[in-house]
Amino acid sequence: MATKTFDAVVVGAGVGGYPAAIRLAQLGKKVALVEKGPLGGVCLNWGCIPSKAIIAAANLVDEIRGAAERGILAGEPKVDLAKLREFKAGVVKKLVGGVGLLEKGNGVEVVKGRATFVGPNAIEVDQNGEKTRIEAQAFVVATGARPIEIPGFKYDGKDVWGAAEALDLPEIPKRLVCIGGGVIGMELGTAYAKLGSQVTFLEALPQILAGVDPEAVRFVSKNLRQHGVTVHVNAKAKGYEKKGGALVVQAELDGKATAIECDKILVACGFRPTIEGLGLDKLGVKLGPNGGVEVDQQYRTSVPSIFAVGDVVGAPFLAHKATKEGEIAAEVIAGMKSARDWVAMPAAIFTDPEIGTVGLSEEEARVQGYEPLTGKFSFGALGRAIAIDHTDGFVKVIADKASKLLLGVTIVGHEAADLIAEAALALEMGAYLEDVALTIHTHPTMPEAFMEACKVALGEPIHMLKPPERAKRAGSGAAAQA
Ligand code: NAD
Repeated sequence: MATKTFDAVVVGAGVGGYPAAIRLAQLGKKVALVEKGPLGGVCLNWGCIPSKAIIAAANLVDEIRGAAERGILAGEPKVDLAKLREFKAGVVKKLVGGVGLLEKGNGVEVVKGRATFVGPNAIEVDQNGEKTRIEAQAFVVATGARPIEIPGFKYDGKDVWGAAEALDLPEIPKRLVCIGGGVIGMELGTAYAKLGSQVTFLEALPQILAGVDPEAVRFVSKNLRQHGVTVHVNAKAKGYEKKGGALVVQAELDGKATAIECDKILVACGFRPTIEGLGLDKLGVKLGPNGGVEVDQQYRTSVPSIFAVGDVVGAPFLAHKATKEGEIAAEVIAGMKSARDWVAMPAAIFTDPEIGTVGLSEEEARVQGYEPLTGKFSFGALGRAIAIDHTDGFVKVIADKASKLLLGVTIVGHEAADLIAEAALALEMGAYLEDVALTIHTHPTMPEAFMEACKVALGEPIHMLKPPERAKRAGSGAAAQA
């Protein structure tokens, strides 16, 4: 068996692993990146990126349908599925190709094959039966996570789809049942509804998008209803059978047995870390309570030469979190004093309308011992939102009442996924309500709503009648803290 030696080896070329390899190379290390599938992992190939291509296309269909209200008469749009598939494949190809170029340009050696640890400083890589031993001082495990399979719904790619099959766009089924009203179900189910499917959601919990501010979720629910989508909460999917040409899903709705007929089933019931077959158990690498690999603040596992980053360390399963962790692990391996030290971890859900969150919710702030001060500004009162006909939603800020330190922001509305970036920067930099309220925001733009929400919290809104009880400005803000 051939043996190769590197300073560091990254296993998994997803959004956690590929940036780790680049960062290691930047820091002067001889690096290999081992991957059994295409570069870019789930995010680029079967997740974030293709889903956004499809969601954007579905939104376009929806915009065209609604354009007559603004005097644009385009008629009922037709979807050329083959063309849309081709467009999506092109998007993925471009980005995956870009990762290859970046690795090559940084001097990272990409090794194709499946890696198994054979010691704390060695793996074996199997490419179609041909094995290579690779030795290194340090390893980064970035093998991601994969969809959970629930009892009664074996993924077969035909009748029962996971996200990957749904993103392949084999067809627009007449009737689609989505099991799981979480992030993936909601994003893809909404897109299919806009593309023409009659969609029914089954969500086991009392609320779709569990954990998201219920006020924000109300806007999503309203739009789902407008698109003819049926949402059942407290609904547990049990199994399905084929009857005639159709599929019949058996579910328990509020404890009552129900059958729902459909043509395809999309299961999106969560992820679990991909650990199997890596041989980590034999080395004694400890797992955490959430089923992921346990790591310290520097992403080192219980075996000092092995690091782990991204989805494999467990929830939250966020691409940008994986990337940050990959960079930190690379820097630690290169001898830098990096560690998990962020304040703000933003998240975005590409529903209709979108949701962006960062920091604490009002409830979380209370649990953490703060007396929360909140401010909410509706897009219905914002010039830009009215002009572009996207008035659903709001920006809500949560601050510490005593100091006015910004603790969290929830945005629901058009392009909330982009708008949350400013809030993330504000939180990361330790901004107070005044810092945002006093920052001049370009008019007319959607981000003005963030400034306005901070003004509302301070009791000084310009574009809102009957302000809530005026918060005392004197003694608040960064200047007063100095
Ligand atoms: P999820 O955890 O967001 O939602 C799964 C839902 O399925 C839960 O609400 C759960 O109650 C429900 N469920 C489970 N079993 C059920 C059953 N038998 N019947 C009915 N409902 C059932 O999981 P997901 O949507 O699969 O996403 C996986 C992970 O990927 C999540 O952690 C998600 O945050 C992440 N992700 C994030 C983004 C983003 O940030 N935009 C996009 C995609 C995925």
